[in-house]
Amino acid sequence: MVSPIEDQIAEVFWIQKSSLSRLKNTTHKERIDKLRSIEKYMISHKKELFDALYDDFKKPSSEVILAELLGVKREIDHICAHLKSWMKPQKVVTPLLLLGTQGYVQMEAKGMCLIIAPWNYPFNLAICPLLLAIAAGNAVMLKPSELSPATSTFIKKMITSLFDRSEVAVFEGDVAVSTCLLDQKFDHIFFTGSPMIGKLVMKAAAEHLTSVTLELGGKSPAIIGPHADIEASAQKIAWGKFLNNGQTCIAPDYVYVHEKHYFAFLEALEKSVNSFYNPDKKGVQQSKDYARIVNSRHFSRIMNLVEDAKLHGANVLFGGDTDEQDCFIAPMVLTNCHHDMKIMQEEIFGPILPILVYKDEQEIIDKLAREEKPLALYIFSENEEFTQHILKNTSSGGVVVNDCLIHYGHGELPFGGVNNSGIGKTGGKYGFIEFSNQKSVLIQHSRMMKFLYPPYQLKVRWM
Ligand code: NAD
Repeated sequence: MVSPIEDQIAEVFWIQKSSLSRLKNTTHKERIDKLRSIEKYMISHKKELFDALYDDFKKPSSEVILAELLGVKREIDHICAHLKSWMKPQKVVTPLLLLGTQGYVQMEAKGMCLIIAPWNYPFNLAICPLLLAIAAGNAVMLKPSELSPATSTFIKKMITSLFDRSEVAVFEGDVAVSTCLLDQKFDHIFFTGSPMIGKLVMKAAAEHLTSVTLELGGKSPAIIGPHADIEASAQKIAWGKFLNNGQTCIAPDYVYVHEKHYFAFLEALEKSVNSFYNPDKKGVQQSKDYARIVNSRHFSRIMNLVEDAKLHGANVLFGGDTDEQDCFIAPMVLTNCHHDMKIMQEEIFGPILPILVYKDEQEIIDKLAREEKPLALYIFSENEEFTQHILKNTSSGGVVVNDCLIHYGHGELPFGGVNNSGIGKTGGKYGFIEFSNQKSVLIQHSRMMKFLYPPYQLKVRWM
């Protein structure tokens, strides 16, 4: 008889705990071998992975290559190239007062780590944090999302065939499983998902004073400046928005376009969408390059946002064909939008792009100062002064000037949000640090620092 999930979790937790000292003392070579074994499995089983992601929400194979396989491969290569130096003790300069001592920072595995992943890039967003946790020498319990069940099963099969459960264990399931996992006293929790669930995870972590990395979401705006290249901006925004059917945490959620470019931008946007997803005029639903909404609950959630927007005066400029059975919504652009609409208050996470017009960038800066800080901000401008003005007067997890999404693939830049869009950073060294305790080590010799001990000789006039 299979024991209840809470017993299974507790059992694995204690098995992993007893392997911590072995794991934290592994060499960089041993850790690299583990990462390469994931890479090898992923490549030799890629057909299964393509099928799983297609089953989950018809993720196009090119997008699987780009955002899942290459994303993971790039992270593995980056970690393998740098791990030895990240693990080395980092010597620090000795202050005058402590002359004769030696100080250094030693990266030490945090220990028991929990990773909770979302469904939208279900392989990449479960495996990339896992790579970093392994690189830092931790034991890991991983919970993929129940909304992408075929990919979750693939991940479980892969991990079970590569790792002993004393090192990495996968628990599939929904909130009930997450809740049981969160009851354990982990040393670090890495959560990727919505701000609402992020708060619950942080509350659970607070019970044990466990550190957290929260990779969350929200509304990431794109701003088209008065000196933007309109054709290029429209293409890049169309790609960033409709990739993965708009279900990307850093997708441009909505666009602020300068009034002088309003009509040209809308025209260029429609042209871009058609050239991407409807080049032969057979309809977007026939495109092999367009994913689906993950399930009917999200389909209804998105359509309710559209209905509310229309009720409050929004116009559908183009797109919006739907097929509920197929969880299909064609790329839709809404004009005449304003901030009182629900669609301008909630993260859209679907293929709907509201457009707002502005005259002066100060309007945008003032508005953004009143909103939650976005995960990403996109500025399209060929004018340095405009770009710097926005950069210096807004706060967001990341900024890309004249493009969308591509900062995620930059191994040397930290990736993450601020406050409501996230806490902590990931990607390369930044992710390795999240999974490590930066331990200060100070080595003194038998020499005494007599001035520290009573009877004190320090005189007030020394100050
Ligand atoms: P979600 O918050 O609904 O779920 C994420 C994970 O949490 C899933 O594994 C789910 O099973 C689990 N979960 C759900 N309810 C829980 C609860 N009550 N307690 C504990 N765990 C619970 O998010 P989602 O729908 O899977 O993903 C979409 C969200 O994730 C969006 O907001 C998006 O912006 C964000 N996201 C952020 C990033 C990033 O890197 N910052 C990447 C992808 C997605």
